Amino acid sequence: MSKFYEVRKRDGAARIGKLSLRGGTQLQTPLMLRMESLIEKESEEEIGVINAENSNFKDLSSEETWNAPRGAVLLPEVHPLFTKLKEAIPSLKVDFFVLSFACSMLNSPRDFVRRIIDARNEIPPDAALWVPAIATAENAALLFYMGVDVIDDTNAVIKGYQSIYLLEEGEVRLSELEELPCNCSVCSSLGIDELGRKDNKERSSLIAKHNTLVLEKEVKKAKERIRAGNLREYVEMKVKAATFLTAVLRIMDLDEEEYFEYRTPVARNQCMKVNTMESLKRIEVKRFARRVLERYEPPARKILLILPCSARKPYSTSPSHTKFIEAIEDYGGHIHELILTSPLGVVPRELEVVYPAAFYDIPVTGYWDAEEREWVSSCLRAYLEKNLRNYELIVAHLSGAYKEICSSAADVFGVEIIYTCEEGEEATSKEALNRLKERIAELCGEGKRLSGFEKKAGMIKAMADFQFGKGAGSNLWGEKEDFERIKITGKFPYYKLSSNGDVLARVVPQYGLLALTVKGARRIENLLSSYKVEIGDFVPKGSILAPGVVDADKQIRVNDEVVFVGEKAFGMGRAKMSGCEMVESRRGVAVQVREVEEV
Ligand SMILES: [Zn+2]
Repeated sequence: MSKFYEVRKRDGAARIGKLSLRGGTQLQTPLMLRMESLIEKESEEEIGVINAENSNFKDLSSEETWNAPRGAVLLPEVHPLFTKLKEAIPSLKVDFFVLSFACSMLNSPRDFVRRIIDARNEIPPDAALWVPAIATAENAALLFYMGVDVIDDTNAVIKGYQSIYLLEEGEVRLSELEELPCNCSVCSSLGIDELGRKDNKERSSLIAKHNTLVLEKEVKKAKERIRAGNLREYVEMKVKAATFLTAVLRIMDLDEEEYFEYRTPVARNQCMKVNTMESLKRIEVKRFARRVLERYEPPARKILLILPCSARKPYSTSPSHTKFIEAIEDYGGHIHELILTSPLGVVPRELEVVYPAAFYDIPVTGYWDAEEREWVSSCLRAYLEKNLRNYELIVAHLSGAYKEICSSAADVFGVEIIYTCEEGEEATSKEALNRLKERIAELCGEGKRLSGFEKKAGMIKAMADFQFGKGAGSNLWGEKEDFERIKITGKFPYYKLSSNGDVLARVVPQYGLLALTVKGARRIENLLSSYKVEIGDFVPKGSILAPGVVDADKQIRVNDEVVFVGEKAFGMGRAKMSGCEMVESRRGVAVQVREVEEV
């Protein structure tokens, strides 16, 4: 029986958790249960799941296809008692749920998505979910990505007895193999001929053992990915091996945006690899595009200059952008720079260090497929629709596909764009750069440089708005009479904002975030309502645990900068779970405290 389950680390819906059993055993999820340990009576208690009081909830389904351990709470598919169970869930002190009849979901990708996500939504965030008898080495990472915590080797063992040999990317009949393409303890100890000569029972059990080992390896790999924060990339790679799994991922990206948005961190210290068609549909991409429209306010400038992206991030540290910046710097005060890029759409220069603008990598071939073009073009159209009136002129220093995308977007509004690259010319060529410099000089007339302070201030204000909502940036600056007390120190991008010697905020480029101090947080009016965690009557030390949270803003996501307020304390920290999870969870770190003031 489980004593408790605690989520320790999250990567989207996937988690690493600690499952403590009554006997004192501690297990880590993602976890693979072994069939043999489920069958042996003595270990039944180890795996057996819930308090005995709740055992009346077991066997809710009339025809169980899976012989669940004693005391497990099943989530049956459609059953009259299911509603009763759903009602009872909040009051059950349950840590572990089993999704029964899971095998039936393998018939349709839509069912697969629906059943797992419904189950996850139905149970508390700090309960473990076990989906029995469907895991293979091919689908395990996807199951964890969806929010499943526990799998088992039933399927792997059964396949072994059917002479089906599991591979990390699928399966093959043993008879089709000429060699054993594996290094596990089974496959490295005997050749395929030797395996073929074994009697039926021994051969099956050896293949089953190999299958289980391959599955177990997959669990370890997925766990490492969750730890690193890049399970999504691994899942994109894995689903390519099977059309069923690719369909599952595509359906989730289209239909389950809310489920994943709520669980996806706002920032990571990881580069996002955009290597597949599915990468364009990531929450991080959609969220960035949405926030640029909703939270970003461009500075008042005469010219909008649209530039191509660069491989090196932040863009301004790249050789190409160094040249662009040099070409326009005498007129910087007239120009607002916007970077056109796939898959993020448009990145205002001021936001180039935020996540994921400084944290993505995409193969550059010069070829853009139709979907990519349409998405980037829609981002530019939306930006122009909202901000066109901000500018007198639009200059685009773009060539190739960038230029085509830009002109197709501009056509919609009937605006004229001044292009500074000629057909077939590289944007970084001497000719193109000279043309850019000359055209800008002509269009601006009088020179007007931006001071270092103005550039830094623009970046910090835009980051504050992007993170906490419109107005946060100007709140940081305070009233007009405070302006001259504001100082920004540090080298790009490690800026530190202070007023009268008090530090208000720091740029944290490792995560692409702005970290506030308590003094900074007190200036931002937004924080009185949003990104706020209400805590109980205590002064937190180190971390705020979920039971200490009274209420939390629903828009809080993992890694958000949050303010916490209680009768005895006010402080700043970083969210370790989403706002809803803070309220619903009974365990786990909710906020990592950075600074606290007693009140
Ligand atoms: Zn093997």
